[in-house]
Amino acid sequence: MVELTDIVGQPEAVTTLTRALSGERRHHAFLFAGPDGVGRRTTAAAFAKALLCSGGAAPGASLFGGAEPAAAGACGACPDCRMFDAGSHPDFHMVYKELARYHDDESVRGSVMQELSIAVIRQFLLAAASLKPSRKKGKVFVVREADLLSDEAQNAMLKTLEEPPPGVTIILICRRPEELLATTRSRCSLVRFGPLPREFVREKLVEAGLEEAECAFWSAFTDGSVGRALRMAWAST
Ligand SMILES: [Zn+2]
Repeated sequence: MVELTDIVGQPEAVTTLTRALSGERRHHAFLFAGPDGVGRRTTAAAFAKALLCSGGAAPGASLFGGAEPAAAGACGACPDCRMFDAGSHPDFHMVYKELARYHDDESVRGSVMQELSIAVIRQFLLAAASLKPSRKKGKVFVVREADLLSDEAQNAMLKTLEEPPPGVTIILICRRPEELLATTRSRCSLVRFGPLPREFVREKLVEAGLEEAECAFWSAFTDGSVGRALRMAWAST
């Protein structure tokens, strides 16, 4: 599991988030914007883990509303960190359009999922956020592919983005923030992700077991995206 301190190639985003973790007044809604394959989801998971961590250098520090500053980063050893690493933390929620399949309403389950609908947002974000957290550190919701949120879904989220229930943090991940409603954008703290350094992409391709020449080639032609470089390299072999 990657920690916030391990994120490479996104110094601006990491600085913003580290400040957010240690600050006394913290935003509750974030918009992670940037191209695919540059670490937005990995960073969101690392940030969520740090928010939910109950150990660390400042045990007992509250990340929401408390006066004590919290440690920047997860401790990696507390029960919350262990649950997070095992993929079973009850207060970490991923929200994505395919959740429609698990919706309580049968008509939603049978619908075609081209956008992230208001039905999914109501059940899996708004209703879930209003319930008490299972553990001590609040809840984190990560909305994958926020570009696909319908206008209706975004409008339904505005109040919660502006003032989430105590302890709730919402991270929207998108490619192009300009495609979201201005009212959604204005309620979130924007965290920009840029292309990764070419050398970093090359190293990731080497780690994935590709030939040296292939690594050099694809890292130079995939605009700083590890995900894109890997897809194209595999597709060409
Ligand atoms: Zn921890």
